[in-house]
Amino acid sequence: MRYPTDGSAAVAALPLAVGDTVRLDVDPNPWTVTAVSAHFAAVTRPVTDRDREEIYAEYDAPDDCDGEGCAHLGCHSDPPNLEGDTIFYSVLDWRNGVRGPCDRIGQGWGDGTYTEAECAAMLAAFEAGQVRVSQRNWTALAVGQHHPVSGSRPAR
Ligand SMILES: [Zn+2]
Repeated sequence: MRYPTDGSAAVAALPLAVGDTVRLDVDPNPWTVTAVSAHFAAVTRPVTDRDREEIYAEYDAPDDCDGEGCAHLGCHSDPPNLEGDTIFYSVLDWRNGVRGPCDRIGQGWGDGTYTEAECAAMLAAFEAGQVRVSQRNWTALAVGQHHPVSGSRPAR
């Protein structure tokens, strides 16, 4: 399902600053704010062993798999490589009330390190309309607990 882009699901922007931590929807893991712009915020968190288990399991063939050409999602394709210091990132889009990765092929950005500089450049591309939150991989924006870091830099 595509998300509406007419502002009908807009969410009031929280006063996030780089270094803050937030909880997102049902995810029990805290996310760290890596960049903030006028209409977006970027957050990251390390991939956990639990994530690896859950995501890799989606690529296991179920018992009722009937072979090549079956209808299972991911059944006959390779899972993403989540080994090592893999980082999940998400972009919060207040105006559309959604979050998710960008809509570039592969849904990644830059070299995969998601440093503050990389995320600031990414949000500049979002502000310029060059990329958007993926219409194939988005979640309704719901920010739970927000923990500002003491002495955090102000949002730009
Ligand atoms: Zn299958």
